[in-house]
Amino acid sequence: MYRKIRLAALLATLGIFISTVHTSVPYASGVQKKKEAGKVESQKLEKVVKSEAEWRKILTPEQYHVVREKGTERAFTGAYYKTKDKGVYHCVACGLELFSSDTKFESGTGWPSFTAPISKRSVHEERDRSLGVERVEVLCARCDAHLGHVFDDGPAPAGLRYCMNSASLKFEKRP
Ligand code: FE
Repeated sequence: MYRKIRLAALLATLGIFISTVHTSVPYASGVQKKKEAGKVESQKLEKVVKSEAEWRKILTPEQYHVVREKGTERAFTGAYYKTKDKGVYHCVACGLELFSSDTKFESGTGWPSFTAPISKRSVHEERDRSLGVERVEVLCARCDAHLGHVFDDGPAPAGLRYCMNSASLKFEKRP
């Protein structure tokens, strides 16, 4: 009698053990995948650092003013506010891919506007109180080029409007 009970208990324990091992494998790999994705997302880009003299050699005076001195081009004067071609917008200073034409929209502001950067890693954001109002500045994550600002009056679902200077961007047509 006792032997039968002990055997049943042993089998039950074994069953629990097997089912635990069986179910824990895919769970562990899912967590691992998530961890790896997080690692890639949080990996820092290698910074591009140059002296102001070096930046001046690479950039036109207008690009330098916008990118290095946080200037703003006049509305409806930049190269890309009307651009509808398919392609990728790079940082004019370091070449990093910043925005895709897939997220570009007509904001009517006279500046190229996007709903999102090409990757969260490609830009970083800082508080800007320079005009007496609180805005969020958007910079290239690799070389700290000033790109523009992000506002929360963009189209749904994200509701964001990345308002960029054409002078900070270099467009590459891609099919
Ligand atoms: Fe850059």
